[in-house]
Amino acid sequence: MRLLSALAAVSLTTLSLTAVSAPAVAAGSTAQGYGGAIATVDATATAAGLEVLRRGGNAVDAAVAAAATLGVTEPFASGIGGGGFFVYYDARKRQVFTIDGREAGPATMTPDYFVNPGTGQPYGFDEARVSGLSVGVPGTLATWEAASRQWGTRSLGRALTDAAEVADRGYAVDAEFRRQVTENAAAFGQFDATRALYLPGGAPPAVGTTIRNPDLAATYREIARKGTAVFYRGAVGADLLRTVRRPPVSASPSSPWAYPIRPGVLTASDLAGYQVRHPAPTRSDYKGLSVYGMSTPSSGGVAVGEALNILEASPITSASTVEKLHYYLEASALSFADRGRYVGAYTPQSRLRELLSDRWAEQRACQISPDRALVKPVAPGPSGCAPAVARQTPDNGMSTTNLTVADKWGNVVEYTLTLEQFGGNGMVVPGRGFMLNNELTDFNFTGTQGAFDDPNLPGPSKRPRSSMSPTIVLKDGKPFLAAGAPGGSTIITTVLQILYGRLELGLTLPQAVAAPRAAQRNTAGIQAEPAFRATYGPALTALGHVFGADAPEIGAATAIEFTRKGGQLAVAEPVRRGSGSAAVVRPAR
Ligand code: GLU
Repeated sequence: MRLLSALAAVSLTTLSLTAVSAPAVAAGSTAQGYGGAIATVDATATAAGLEVLRRGGNAVDAAVAAAATLGVTEPFASGIGGGGFFVYYDARKRQVFTIDGREAGPATMTPDYFVNPGTGQPYGFDEARVSGLSVGVPGTLATWEAASRQWGTRSLGRALTDAAEVADRGYAVDAEFRRQVTENAAAFGQFDATRALYLPGGAPPAVGTTIRNPDLAATYREIARKGTAVFYRGAVGADLLRTVRRPPVSASPSSPWAYPIRPGVLTASDLAGYQVRHPAPTRSDYKGLSVYGMSTPSSGGVAVGEALNILEASPITSASTVEKLHYYLEASALSFADRGRYVGAYTPQSRLRELLSDRWAEQRACQISPDRALVKPVAPGPSGCAPAVARQTPDNGMSTTNLTVADKWGNVVEYTLTLEQFGGNGMVVPGRGFMLNNELTDFNFTGTQGAFDDPNLPGPSKRPRSSMSPTIVLKDGKPFLAAGAPGGSTIITTVLQILYGRLELGLTLPQAVAAPRAAQRNTAGIQAEPAFRATYGPALTALGHVFGADAPEIGAATAIEFTRKGGQLAVAEPVRRGSGSAAVVRPAR
């Protein structure tokens, strides 16, 4: 850190490429070797995936095993009550495939779904979140099933029964887990089933205590025995629907809650009708690399891709680090403006192609001045003469989890999954042990685009726009890098910044994952980690950038780089969110 503050004093012109801060990297967060690699936020999940790789399973098998384990040990950021996006590079076909396992809204959902009929005003975020209304049909289980069936060699049932053992055995509470419960204690305290699991004795569990979840173990085993139909069309689904439609509010909540906890309107046919989608991945080229990402309903692929295209069209080759960061922040803001105006679940392919075209990027890149930051928010569209949109898109999400897996055959999985907020909508389905998502709050509650249509308003069975950005980069048709992150709409900036750090700022992948972060999402102020602001703030402020409130941390990412001669460098977050865990099958060839 002393090095970082010293750098802050260095002027823009003398800050050279070699001066990029190289953060210390903790043991366990990086592993280098051969034969398969995995990185997740959690040591138990990494171990589960690694074991599958060791026993000859492929990357998809290991990803599903790790994700099922995360559903136990990271119950607030993942699990069968949520959704996510799975990106897969198939080595044999030399092709990237995706699974859209995003939650879907009820068939009866209308654009005013989150407007209080009594007042005509949109609900407050927490009011909408802790309710049955915020719950979308979960896509996670269907994602695991689709991935296992199409590309796996092991049954989903095995992954679930193995993870059920973890749920029975229990796992230790660490400081991060306790923090997540503490932040959610008021919401969790409204529901007996949540309280019983996560507020033992009425308070957040002490660090070091063991959490066991026999209900979840039984649910996993039941699904393993009967198939996913028991979730989408059977007894588990019936319990889920009952919880959504009649939130099981405690007769004696542990603290008052400021709002009525409203029922949702999901139906059995919403649940039964759920299907994963397989959209073609987004693709953009960056300096000879092919960058594959997640298409709509995630905005991740198009936003990361557009920003990279803008950077490629910008004169950054010989720029200093601060100048390069200036372009990074500007490209990100421009791309977020276009995301806000054009990207939602139903954006036509032709529009996505346009946003990812070099022509579009060139028209955006020429708006960037080398020595003066644009005033934010910038207007969407290529011309720069459309009226700026002053209103910001609401975005409160911070909790998600990401994992990266590669196997000895060269297959790669980049998978981001979530419940939206840490702890989703706060409800554990009674008797079933899993939490429900609040993903539908990712819709805009009212229009954010002034006189223009907002692409992310609720609609019948619609999936809310996401920022999840699982990304696989190919070089000469072979995997070069895979990365993903949590963090609401900072997912986009985190993934972009990791790619930029690795490809442009001279950082190694572990350094790029650890480096202090900043997110410019077309808001008046940049949201930065304190270390970023301390290092680069003065020079960037001199260029006209404006910093908003600091964020203590942005994005606990995971990534894998494919090195020469079949080597793999697996990287998990070294510090943020209590640090992650990376492993390889064989440290030596
Ligand atoms: N719900 C968010 C999204 O899909 C992710 C939530 C988060 O990372 O906090 O973009």
